[in-house]
Amino acid sequence: MPKKTNPEKSSDRVENGVEIHTFQAEVANVLDIVINSLYTDREIFIRELVSNAADALEKIRHLALTDTSRTVADLPLKIEIDLDEANRLFTITDTGIGMTREELIENLGSIAHSGSIEFMKQLAENIKQDINLIGQFGVGFYSAFMVADKIRVKTRSFRPDSQGYEWSSTGSGGYSIVPRDGLSRGTTVILELKSDATEYASSYRIRRAINKYSNFVPFPILVNKEKINTVEAIWTRNRNEIKKQEYVEFYKFISAVQEEPLDWLHFSTDAPLSLNALLFIPGENLERFGFGKLDLNVDLHCRKVLIERHAREILPAWLRFLHGIVDSEDIPLNISRETMQDSALVRKINRALTSKFIKHLDEMIRDDPKQYGIFWKTFGGFIKEGIVTDPDHREALSRLLRFETSKTAPGETISLDQYVERMPDTQKEIYFITGFDRKSIDSGPYMEVFRTRDIEIIYNFDPVDDFVMTHLASYRDKNIISAESEKLDLPPVPTGTDEPGRERAGREDLKQMGDWFRKVLQDKILDARPSGRLSGSPLILLNPEGRITGAMQQLLHSLNHDKVPAMKRTLEFDPDHSTIQKLFKMKDSDPEFAQTVLEQLYDHAAMSAGLPVDTREMIKRMDSILSRSLTMKKPSSTGSRRKKSAK
Ligand code: ADP
Ligand code: MG
Repeated sequence: MPKKTNPEKSSDRVENGVEIHTFQAEVANVLDIVINSLYTDREIFIRELVSNAADALEKIRHLALTDTSRTVADLPLKIEIDLDEANRLFTITDTGIGMTREELIENLGSIAHSGSIEFMKQLAENIKQDINLIGQFGVGFYSAFMVADKIRVKTRSFRPDSQGYEWSSTGSGGYSIVPRDGLSRGTTVILELKSDATEYASSYRIRRAINKYSNFVPFPILVNKEKINTVEAIWTRNRNEIKKQEYVEFYKFISAVQEEPLDWLHFSTDAPLSLNALLFIPGENLERFGFGKLDLNVDLHCRKVLIERHAREILPAWLRFLHGIVDSEDIPLNISRETMQDSALVRKINRALTSKFIKHLDEMIRDDPKQYGIFWKTFGGFIKEGIVTDPDHREALSRLLRFETSKTAPGETISLDQYVERMPDTQKEIYFITGFDRKSIDSGPYMEVFRTRDIEIIYNFDPVDDFVMTHLASYRDKNIISAESEKLDLPPVPTGTDEPGRERAGREDLKQMGDWFRKVLQDKILDARPSGRLSGSPLILLNPEGRITGAMQQLLHSLNHDKVPAMKRTLEFDPDHSTIQKLFKMKDSDPEFAQTVLEQLYDHAAMSAGLPVDTREMIKRMDSILSRSLTMKKPSSTGSRRKKSAK
């Protein structure tokens, strides 16, 4: 963790043996918000202080088990809360690792988590933020200032011969530190409660809060000497004996939220690997609320001892939305972060968990499709990310994809399997098309050939989906092809349906048209030729190679600006389209204007392809076309404007 303050720094000043420190500016800001703006859900501070005590106990338990020099004294591991209503005191004591003077300055005087400040600001402004989340932003301790006028922290580190200290602060200005003798290992936090917070000295009130938030803390919690929680690791119990409500409560405890999870998966294996895992799918996807990338929220244990919180290596990044516990007896207790990264065992655990989770989703699809629908809506983006980033599981993940298509009702989705099963025998490929929504896809030129031939096509509403399709490349031996592709291996037009361009053979003008298009648009296109797939639009741009779709190019363009060179496409035109016919005639009578109109039509086609266009150029051109049309005389003959009626 980056150091925000220099722990060696001497205090700002010393008065009568008391060091006086100022808070790091960020802390002062957070405290200002906590003290002056937060009045609801104040009981959260109990959970935060209990969780800090439990963390300190987890650390000492882990140290004791891996300690070879026997520096860790053998004390019972517990959390005691003492309440004194008469004097308005809330006191919480743990026998955890404690803190040295430097750690006090570092941990309670500065903030390392960069997102915390932003979170607190939003909290203060009451923007959809929930104080419940405070613990996830590394500022939980400060929540105690919601209820306390003054906080004292007496602490002594586990290190042999450590000096004890007392930290104290009213929250504004700064804090003081003095040496204190006679402390034993661990930390005591004493809150001098505000006059409107007397309730937090009531044993009934505190028990209720602990029941709500901290029931599963793996150490005994005593309130006024009475033990109030049952200490057990729920994940080591037999699945059949655990009630649904217990799972829900446990989820709320580990993830510090109040919403129920969407679903969970609890399993254990013995061979080839000992594993006990309890994984929860949350009810919400926090990344959708713009919190940026989530941290993986699964903790690694060995025989109930916490090895690592948020153990990033045990699951692939695309599963970072899961919360839970993984316990493996095979993991050495003293494994370091570095060893985790290149441990074959950890890789095995990762693979086993991932396969199990995918299988769980397969079962959800079979047993509870409605639930899967909710999962897909909320977390489908992670599955897509898995397809792009995790080749080992790509195939299994492709079964989980869901799409709207040209033949589903809006909002209704199908799987690739369903798509393939619905394909007529004559159809050899899987097709997809990308656009903002159904309307804009349906009105574009690419749909025309699929409509004429009555072929179902998958709709992508997010450019990212094109990356998924490109990475998949095929499904059940059928190539996945973009509607923009130049080469489509399409089934024949159904008998009785008009096939565009069927009767064009031998026409003289086609070659001349192609030549003119190539001449005018030579910098922009690869080639120009009459199209067999248009029935309404004058032009269409086709992708010769098919992998980078227009939407992907647009996305790359917006991320890298001008660094992505524009990829040229093949232009196809409908020689019978009235606009093309008129334009072709005009090219001799008014070559300059005909060229302007053609360039404009090209830009329309580029926009339909989702390709970036130079809007400045386009507007300039449009202005000149408009100004000309306004000065034009009314045409004398009124024939049909288009030979073919376009929809
Ligand atoms: P977080 O727990 O997310 O790190 P907090 O604001 O709750 O953030 O606590 C800040 C830090 O203070 C902790 O990371 C820990 O190092 C230290 N700390 C807080 N309470 C205790 C305690 N009871 N024992 C030991 N260290 C503590
Ligand atoms: Mg904390």
